[in-house]
Amino acid sequence: MALANHSCSPNATIVFNGRTIALRALSEIKAEEQIFISYVDPMQPRDFRRQELRERYFFTCQCTVCQLNETPYQTTLRLNNTSASSTKREHLSLLWWNEDYISKASQLQERHSKFKLSAKQIEGAQLFINRTRKTQKIEFLHAGLQILRPQISHRLYAIPPLPALLNELYLYHLSQDQYIETLVILLFISLHLDPHTYPQLHHPIRVTRLYTLATLFKHISSLPTVSLFPSSSRSSKLNEDQQHAIRNLDFISANQVFLIFAFEAGTKSHGEDSVFVKEIKEALADVEDVQKMRGDGMVGRELRRWMAQGDVAVEGKLLVETILGGLSDVVGMIGTVIDGVEI
Ligand SMILES: [Zn+2]
Repeated sequence: MALANHSCSPNATIVFNGRTIALRALSEIKAEEQIFISYVDPMQPRDFRRQELRERYFFTCQCTVCQLNETPYQTTLRLNNTSASSTKREHLSLLWWNEDYISKASQLQERHSKFKLSAKQIEGAQLFINRTRKTQKIEFLHAGLQILRPQISHRLYAIPPLPALLNELYLYHLSQDQYIETLVILLFISLHLDPHTYPQLHHPIRVTRLYTLATLFKHISSLPTVSLFPSSSRSSKLNEDQQHAIRNLDFISANQVFLIFAFEAGTKSHGEDSVFVKEIKEALADVEDVQKMRGDGMVGRELRRWMAQGDVAVEGKLLVETILGGLSDVVGMIGTVIDGVEI
């Protein structure tokens, strides 16, 4: 483990497995190739990553990402040029369609070449994020969001430090028991930011988020609907239609679908015999039991069949697509949730 050097575009990563840790490859590593992991948070802007590496490890990072000051979109394009993934991934492709992300990355990179935040704006927003982490005060996040507003309106979401800011924002809503806001932001991060921030399909952080989402769906399904949109909640700016769309979601089935995603991805990111995958298996058994008691139990059964057989299980696949369609409407509420932030 001590032999792994740092890169902001690593080919391996550390994964916790119960009380032990393991080094897992993110991409194919040849016999003589050097192993790199990331010592720092890739959601930070380059100068902050370099500063942290200088202060803690006494070197200036000269990795490709730092040298070229690559955007996450450029990294996505570079990595997908060199290592086209040939892995069969029927289930996950419904959620993360790789070709789609590559074409999005090139469009967004094009847009980025015409619009850039100044170094001062980036630094200002990052400082507010750091201050939030120290003080737990949401006001600093609002100030950071305000600085990044031009970036948000250009939809260049994956450029640091916005991903880190949204990460703090979802953690804040979670700490306030505002589960719908949490859900909107976390889904947005998982679907639109993670594929660029962590370009490998089985990056443990991407995979862990699937499991977090599954857990969030389960928790929301256990809440009485009235508590989802408390009238006292200052932050909920979602209108009647949006609230209606959320109430109509089948959170139990969404829980099952995301557990299936997490299971498939987790066997690769954490390993088949890992504590993580064992936990997912137990959660899957739980939700399958719950599904048996709902109506004729058909939905749970068809999803189970889809998990075992893939797209051959047509009914199950259709159900998954319907659930993901509903969730993509939820993701579309990100603007309302971000703008709902009071400044
Ligand atoms: Zn670097």
